[in-house]
Amino acid sequence: MRVLLFSSQHYDQESFTQAAGDCALALHFQPARLTLDTVALAEGFEVVCPFINDDLNAQVLERLAAGGTRLIALRSAGYNHVDLAAAQRLGLAVVRVPAYSPHAVAEHAAALVLALNRRLHRAYNRTRDGDFTLHGLTGFDLHGKTVGVIGTGQIGLAFARIMAGFGCQLLAYDPYPNPEMLALGARYVQLPDLLGQARIISLHCPLTAHTRHLINAQSLGQLQPGAMLINTGRGALVDTPALVDALKSGQLGYLGLDVYEEEAQLFFEDRSDLPLQDDVLARLLTFPNVIVTAHQAFLTREALAAIAATTLDNIVRWAAGNPHNLVDG
Ligand code: NAD
Repeated sequence: MRVLLFSSQHYDQESFTQAAGDCALALHFQPARLTLDTVALAEGFEVVCPFINDDLNAQVLERLAAGGTRLIALRSAGYNHVDLAAAQRLGLAVVRVPAYSPHAVAEHAAALVLALNRRLHRAYNRTRDGDFTLHGLTGFDLHGKTVGVIGTGQIGLAFARIMAGFGCQLLAYDPYPNPEMLALGARYVQLPDLLGQARIISLHCPLTAHTRHLINAQSLGQLQPGAMLINTGRGALVDTPALVDALKSGQLGYLGLDVYEEEAQLFFEDRSDLPLQDDVLARLLTFPNVIVTAHQAFLTREALAAIAATTLDNIVRWAAGNPHNLVDG
């Protein structure tokens, strides 16, 4: 069975080749992103394996189905980039990797907290330039501070455990409280209470119609002045232009983004020779209290190995008529 992996990078090739061993799947690695312009590349592939910034809108899915594709094997947990109603109508099965390493993402969120608080990005540049002064580098003790976790599934829980290790107090917001969060000492509160009380807020909920722009001008106005916001969830959880205003006024004191609403055209590519056309991102990158990483929170050896193993297992099981990890519309 032929499998086409869109948006594949050298690390995908390594992890999938290693996980495949001598299994009968013929893996084809395609660096291009899946869009209406590139969908023709999938002609004749029964299985297509997209990543998070591939575009699986109704038109693309129609072209895939017409070209013989029958399975969309997502190599991600999130599936907000797939038109599930269209997939169902076209008879395309969709499977995903519900969990690979929650620690990978949670640890990256914690890395953003630490780097922003202790200004490691500024200190790194400063000492390399022979400047050994400390002005502007004052941080705060994490111990005793209140951390708000929005979305307390696998990743939110792993992040909360790390922050509890620093001696932080935990507030949580999730329509489905997690008993393991309660066991950690977290208190579930309404969203405005979390926003108003937490010094650090980290987003770990999925992107849905309910969570799109959950953080906007109004909710940013509810924060404690100088609060820290971390988003390793999905870019559109946040209304990004509103962040610029909150940073300019000082209402937002620190911002760590691993995801960006308009990332699909930018992330995973080397664009260092080109003028940045995205004015909102360009403005964000001018603030000394902002760190942007290019959707790398998942990128650990353990996570890559688990993504490859589960994706291949999903394909093999689907081919055997015993589908697993199906995404239902
Ligand atoms: P999960 O399903 O285990 O947990 C998600 C939690 O969010 C659930 O407890 C759910 O009840 C909660 N939730 C749903 N709607 C909510 C709402 N309106 N408000 C608050 N909470 C809500 O998922 P997970 O594995 O913890 O992953 C969380 C998200 O992280 C994924 O959906 C994905 O978007 C993102 N993610 C990012 C990366 C990255 O590399 N940056 C990697 C993996 C996952």
